[in-house]
Amino acid sequence: MPVADEIDAPPALRSRLRKLGLERRDDLVLHLPLRYEDETQLVAIGDAPIGVPLQVEVLVREVSVRRAPRRQLLVEVSDAGVAEGNRLLLRFLSFYSSQQRALEVARDHQLRLRVFGEIRNGLGRPEMVHPRYRVLGDDQALPASLTPVYPTTAGLAQSALRKLIARAICTADLAEWLDAAWCSSHALPSFAAAVRLLHSPPPEASAVALQCRRHPAWRRVKFDELLAQQLSLRRAYLARRRKGAPVLLASGRLAKGLQAALPFTLTGAQRRVAAEIAADLAQPYPMQRLLQGDVGCGKTIVAALAVCQAIEAGYQAAFMAPTEILAEQHHLRLRAWFAPLGVEVLCLSGRLGAGARRTLQRQAAGTAQLVVGTHALIQEEVGFTRLGLVIVDEQHRFGVVQRLDLRRKGANPHQLMMSATPIPRTVAMSYYADLDVSVIDELPAGRSPVRTRLFSDSRREEVVAAVRAVVAEGRQAYWVCPLIEESAKLELQAALESWAALSSELADLRIGLVHGRLRGQEKAAVMAAFVAGEIDVLVATTVIEVGVDVPNASLMVIEHAERFGLAQLHQLRGRVGRGAHHSACVLLYQQPLSSTARARLKIIFEQTDGFEIARLDLQLRGPGELVGSRQSGMPLLRYADLEVDGDLVELAQQMAAQLLRDDPERVAGHLRRWLGCREELLKV
Ligand code: ADP
Ligand code: MG
Repeated sequence: MPVADEIDAPPALRSRLRKLGLERRDDLVLHLPLRYEDETQLVAIGDAPIGVPLQVEVLVREVSVRRAPRRQLLVEVSDAGVAEGNRLLLRFLSFYSSQQRALEVARDHQLRLRVFGEIRNGLGRPEMVHPRYRVLGDDQALPASLTPVYPTTAGLAQSALRKLIARAICTADLAEWLDAAWCSSHALPSFAAAVRLLHSPPPEASAVALQCRRHPAWRRVKFDELLAQQLSLRRAYLARRRKGAPVLLASGRLAKGLQAALPFTLTGAQRRVAAEIAADLAQPYPMQRLLQGDVGCGKTIVAALAVCQAIEAGYQAAFMAPTEILAEQHHLRLRAWFAPLGVEVLCLSGRLGAGARRTLQRQAAGTAQLVVGTHALIQEEVGFTRLGLVIVDEQHRFGVVQRLDLRRKGANPHQLMMSATPIPRTVAMSYYADLDVSVIDELPAGRSPVRTRLFSDSRREEVVAAVRAVVAEGRQAYWVCPLIEESAKLELQAALESWAALSSELADLRIGLVHGRLRGQEKAAVMAAFVAGEIDVLVATTVIEVGVDVPNASLMVIEHAERFGLAQLHQLRGRVGRGAHHSACVLLYQQPLSSTARARLKIIFEQTDGFEIARLDLQLRGPGELVGSRQSGMPLLRYADLEVDGDLVELAQQMAAQLLRDDPERVAGHLRRWLGCREELLKV
């Protein structure tokens, strides 16, 4: 980091700034206010509205300390410059004696006080509780601009932060990277003008327009932020594209064989995305494609067709799933598909002993054509000799770090990520700008929609009866136990309790239990029994959340549904409705519901379309969690709001393409300003 850009402050202050992510002057410039206070005007006490932040200028009349019921400092003031001005009480519930003395001095010498706060009616007379105030010295001029209020941290006063930022604005490089004519044609001010205005807006810039972030200055900053995101992700995309990858050419013999043996024909959407992927694989650079499609739309077969192409071209393919259960299941399904074609499918699962594992690893490295497993496939450095294609199922469950792991693996195989967590278009355009995206927007015909029903806990018995009825018809049911985020141990205990309760309530049924603490082998045995119909009701923790496919299961019960997130509920519900039978999802909830829990349950009850659910989810909690970036270290958008700033995402995308093509220096400058050293994370 160039020294010239460092913040000029003592080490203790610097470490507090670092907590806010502020290391460079550029960071200070981009540390924008949460809101503003208008100290540019004075209001007479008599005219002051109730409950609105405002400023008065007063003289101190009386200072007293009351001891009961609580020690407090009471300061009686009146409008300055008026003979008998209206009175106002300032109440301080905690104070220093030095503060009391200073106010007494102000009283004795008739010094003016400038007080900022909200008036409320306390016991029939106006008062302000803990207002901000200042005894006026010589500098009596009112400030010329609105006062910014910044996000801050313990031990860092607003006033100190304001000074630092004001200084940074004067000394930092506010160079313009965009064409002035282009900016004005999009009603965007220059960067320098925008940040100057946002840090010290003139009184006539409405505090309201600034606060709701619709002001052109805000739009400019949001645009720049989105541009930085586009530039860094697209640059990473282009860099990977310059690396070579095997050209996977195939006659289509295997793929035709596979399709001919299927009991169904592909949907139009499946055929379309399969063609997109096939075209990518035939390029001399690595595919970086995200395949999105709602739960149950049939992504696995599309991936299998890609595998055919790799194998026919003489390369190996790796198929990774986020959990052992899912890996096992993929193994069974893929083996059934591929064995008749003479393709061997290996599974490197956690239940193998060390010896067997080593043997398989050797095979995987050498002759195996398709290897299925969890992320361990990559971590354990299976030394594939001719790895041509990597498939990452349920990619949202892998951290970004793991995704990067894969890219770091010397060779550059083609990559297909699959996700059933639908991402709204603007989110995909922004956070996934480093991937090409294909979407399956059609479910196979003949699926009957899953009926969703909400039951309060008090009606648990009715739900148990419903389970009995489903099993009597020859179907199977899932019973998902409460999610307990704080403790895996408590979660296990809850699962055991549910299992015990159901086992006695449904004594004549076969009740299985699967949870995260089981060893791989045990888990696999339970799942195999459920698939084979030897278990009627599968009690499970969320280990079954993703991917599991048992078409005969037609009822999903979720206990304490109020604790689950929307994407999770949608995923769980997607475990049923996979066969031709009518399926239902019962959400058991416990009163009282928080308002967000209520909102979530309402959405999942009313909506079946995963994309719509994702869009509403975005409204409810913002994109951060949606893209799983909390653990990723990928910088989140601080200012742009993908719900309202969709138009800016598109503009940023166009501008990024143009700058990357024409102007590497501006690209570098812009990225330095916005990402500083954080950009390293994205270079992989
Ligand atoms: P997901 O996209 O959630 O991973 P899967 O690939 O597990 O979905 O497919 C769900 C089920 O639908 C599987 O049983 C699969 O065999 C079946 N399936 C896939 N494509 C079709 C299709 N075109 N017609 C009928 N069934 C299909
Ligand atoms: Mg799947």
